[in-house]
Amino acid sequence: VVSAPPTSGATRTHCPYCSLQCGIELRPTVPGLPGPLALEPQADFPTNLGGLCSKGWTATSLLDHPQRLLHPLVRTVRGDRSSPFREATWDEALGRVVDGITAAQAAYGRDAVGCFGGGGLTNEKAYAFGKFARVALRTSMIDYNGRFCMSSAATAANRTFGIDRGLPFPLSDVARARTVVLVGSNPAATMPPAMQHLDAGRADGATHVVVDPRRTATAAGSTLHLAPRPGTDLALANGLLHLAVRQGRVDEAYVAARTRGFAAVRAGVASSWPDRVERITGVPVAQLQQTLDALTAESAMILTARGAEQHSQGTDTAQAWINLALALGLPGKPWSGYGTVTGQGNGQGGREHGQKADQLPGYRKLADPADRAHVAGVWGIDPDELPGVGVSAFEMLDRMGAEGGVRALVLMASNLVVSAPDVNRVRARIEALDLFVVSDIFLSETAELADVVLPTAQWAEEEGTMTNLEGRVIRRRQALPPPTGVHDDLWVMKELAERLGRGRYFSADPGEVFAELRRASAGGLADYSGITPARIDAEQGVFWPCPDTTTDGGAPHPGTPRLFAETFPTPDGRAVFRRVEHAEAAETPDADYPYVLTTGRLMAQYQSGTQTRRVPAPSQSSAQPEVQLHPDLARRLEIGSRDIVLLSTRRGAATFRAQVSDDIRADTVFVPFHWGGASAANALTNPALDPHSKMPAFKACAVAVSRLGAP
Ligand code: SF4
Repeated sequence: VVSAPPTSGATRTHCPYCSLQCGIELRPTVPGLPGPLALEPQADFPTNLGGLCSKGWTATSLLDHPQRLLHPLVRTVRGDRSSPFREATWDEALGRVVDGITAAQAAYGRDAVGCFGGGGLTNEKAYAFGKFARVALRTSMIDYNGRFCMSSAATAANRTFGIDRGLPFPLSDVARARTVVLVGSNPAATMPPAMQHLDAGRADGATHVVVDPRRTATAAGSTLHLAPRPGTDLALANGLLHLAVRQGRVDEAYVAARTRGFAAVRAGVASSWPDRVERITGVPVAQLQQTLDALTAESAMILTARGAEQHSQGTDTAQAWINLALALGLPGKPWSGYGTVTGQGNGQGGREHGQKADQLPGYRKLADPADRAHVAGVWGIDPDELPGVGVSAFEMLDRMGAEGGVRALVLMASNLVVSAPDVNRVRARIEALDLFVVSDIFLSETAELADVVLPTAQWAEEEGTMTNLEGRVIRRRQALPPPTGVHDDLWVMKELAERLGRGRYFSADPGEVFAELRRASAGGLADYSGITPARIDAEQGVFWPCPDTTTDGGAPHPGTPRLFAETFPTPDGRAVFRRVEHAEAAETPDADYPYVLTTGRLMAQYQSGTQTRRVPAPSQSSAQPEVQLHPDLARRLEIGSRDIVLLSTRRGAATFRAQVSDDIRADTVFVPFHWGGASAANALTNPALDPHSKMPAFKACAVAVSRLGAP
């Protein structure tokens, strides 16, 4: 069973941070005795091949961190969030949560309570949270922070390929591709062990092209670096496709046999003349040609990430790169294809099991009667009891406390007032709630705003499964129990459901939840029904889809490391082109805000920094949030290195130390988003949403830059 922890020796588990989910081993420092754990990378795990980044190496310091939450917290004066926290029993804290939920739903209806999840939750918790919303709370109001992560690429992949799996091939295939084009992806900083696969390809003569407005560590090591103006990647991809058409490089046989809709796309890119694309993007025509030449090698991959996707036209941008990949005949071809590099630890599994507003487990659709009937059957309820489709993350957040919006929010695994766009606005909406409940391991900036804070177990203290960026389902193993008084989120959901009269539908045992998840996903696109804990252990993870083929005596399904070799999971088996056109970002520079702001990540930090900012070692290497700006811009604004710089947008202001560098375009400034408070990058960002994915425009908005003072 999944739920039995190992009793002695090494625990083979995975890093708690990013989607590479590096394999690690934890051992008691003194064998046989409780105490600190020693951490080593698994030498043979296929994604990290014995490597770890600084975040992984220091992950055990989270376990006994002095700021760890060890008791539930409630406000001294109930209902008054200006009163200080005090420690409470679980019974009192859960009682306050249930009272608040009951009051909100009695006054305003079931949808007055919302749930906000995260891509760091295990599959079991993500699954249980979706079920908790629909079965215990019977609300349609649930969504999660993946909307702010890879939702644009997921939307584009779904509408083209009929399925969304970040990488439709194992990461190791990257080493075999003769060309890799990375668009808005910087694995050298975000997931350094993954560079082993890229480096192996480079050592073997592969060509690597990086598309990024900054010369990142990944770009610096590439064959060719294209630095487009932020928000113009779509135009760049269409320009490449225009060249491919004009030069007869389209794989016409592949397009005819395996796709539909190319005629409209071919017509659409007819006006993407290279010189016009150069004017829009700033990328020289010669570099367009070099990139296309590389992409028409014997094998080639296009990988997008947040730089391409976190835009108000992010879905169409991902689509443009998918169109290019299809026209060149790449998806399904050996060592070739299109993929998106998912970021959060369980960014893949977190989007498969029902945390999204429109979704049921196994990528089933809440609006589909057959899908509703299947999942309701597994849950033991009438399909009519299931609520309908809710609203996306920012749409839910932006109406909190207002007429028709949610009045109570239960939040797990997210630090919204650092990671959401336009955080000042989000903070104001949180303050308008009647009840705000946060589950976390630390008192994050968001937890500080709560009525009730619930301390939760963390990675090495719990059992469960995760799904990495390749669609490989792996096990998170328990190496030690949670601290006394701390419970995991499955237990919390079960306890809350009990108090709401729906406890019989829930289990706090991760093994039981995984078994139920397998049944709920059976027959869905993300089919886990043939994946067992024993197989995960024996096979270093199992790739979904993996249907259970053993029930009538068949051999076990091998899992699906590679998708699309023969067909696509669309109604007619063909991938679907969609014509997309360049549009400027929702906000572009003007006289008041003359530069482009883009945001991103640093190697030492993970997401909102709730964990990594508390770890001494990596924090030392990037203790200060800095704004990267070009020497020409710095000179014009009389800003020196290490000066304090004020950035202002239409939404807010934030201060950073200056890092003057010619690794960035002269019209663009970059800030990391790992901090809140005075250096909150997301106080600046634009919440304009992509119409398809509802992704905010994190990667491009207009900004004013000025010098505040000397260091
Ligand atoms: Fe590996 Fe990512 Fe953890 Fe670094 S943060 S050790 S790359 S899983």
